[in-house]
Amino acid sequence: MKDLEFERISNTREILRNIIKKHGRDNIYDLTGLTGGFYIENKNLDFLETYTGPAIFTEKLNRHGLAYLHNDFNEDSDIKNKIESLEEYCKSEMAVGFNRTSSALLATIITLKNKKISQILHYVPEKPSHPSIPKSCNILNIPYYESDNIEEILALIETGKFLIITGSTMNHKIVDLENTKKLIEYCHSNNVNVLFDDASGARIRLLNGQPTALNMGADLVVTSMDKLMTGPRAGLLAGNKELIKEIYSEGLKYGLEAQAPILAAMVYTLKNFSFDRIKKAQQRAINFTFDELCNYDNISLEKTPTGFIINMEPKKSFDVALELLKNYRVITITTMGMPDASKTLRFDFTSKDADKVSDNYIKNSILNAILAVINKK
Ligand SMILES: *Cc1c(COP(=O)(O)O)cnc(C)c1O
Repeated sequence: MKDLEFERISNTREILRNIIKKHGRDNIYDLTGLTGGFYIENKNLDFLETYTGPAIFTEKLNRHGLAYLHNDFNEDSDIKNKIESLEEYCKSEMAVGFNRTSSALLATIITLKNKKISQILHYVPEKPSHPSIPKSCNILNIPYYESDNIEEILALIETGKFLIITGSTMNHKIVDLENTKKLIEYCHSNNVNVLFDDASGARIRLLNGQPTALNMGADLVVTSMDKLMTGPRAGLLAGNKELIKEIYSEGLKYGLEAQAPILAAMVYTLKNFSFDRIKKAQQRAINFTFDELCNYDNISLEKTPTGFIINMEPKKSFDVALELLKNYRVITITTMGMPDASKTLRFDFTSKDADKVSDNYIKNSILNAILAVINKK
């Protein structure tokens, strides 16, 4: 059987390769919000090795990771206070690097299998979940139940189970804060551990004034260093030290952990993270208008916290995205994204390249791409 998703990626990678050859990287606009990046401090370049690298970078990642994942980015940020709290966090918590968020989730679920967890429950702001969680449960034969209904989840929570909460979906729909608090509290009163899949949520939720997952009491949290961040595609997993040690150790056996170059880039990203940059993107999204779309039936604009989605029929959405890639050099998840990840046509102003293009360039490209697709029919 042909793997259509893989064929799509192979095709779009070839198209992109040719565009890069012809136009150069500077004339390509990655508006996915997942551009990633690989900045590494000069002094760390000597340690991109198997043993010296992790020896140096895992400790740095631990401290910067915990500091970041406890930072709510609200006004009262007292530096001295923060350093003292970091020492406290380091006693009972730990942060580690995985190759991807999906790898961190797989390593966690392998560990849960070892612990004979009877069921993994998953509360999502909107179904479906990212494929990595149900697929990991499936290969390990762990009963899995996912729902966007809090009552359904609450009714199923009992000792011996494990709860995952998705903080923000692939389409950037955010979990409800009160429901989250209720779930964490109820889980803890039943001795059930909670992991937050905060791939993009660790930033998107904070824009909405929500606290970090660890500050809400989640036992574990994972976030993607390339989502609304300029880091490599990697998963930062943190929380309860004992659990993290078990999960990381399991990850090492399966080759899921981040290697030295990725660890070094993760450290750089955390040290240089700017929440203001994300706030600026949020403001641009708020000001963004696209009235011209009214002229089209069945096509509509949906804002996300830091960008927007053009809702239309999936096949058309892909054709428009392909047109955007070929003729306007605009990269979207719809064309380039991972297999089975959400393929809605979405644009994110936190992308590095978003600063290179005006709202008008983006809108005109989209309108012309839509017209081209309609006229081809
Ligand atoms: C992106 C995403 C993942 C997976 O991240 P990768 O780095 O691509 O493995 C998992 N869960 C959610 C909610 C996501 O948005």
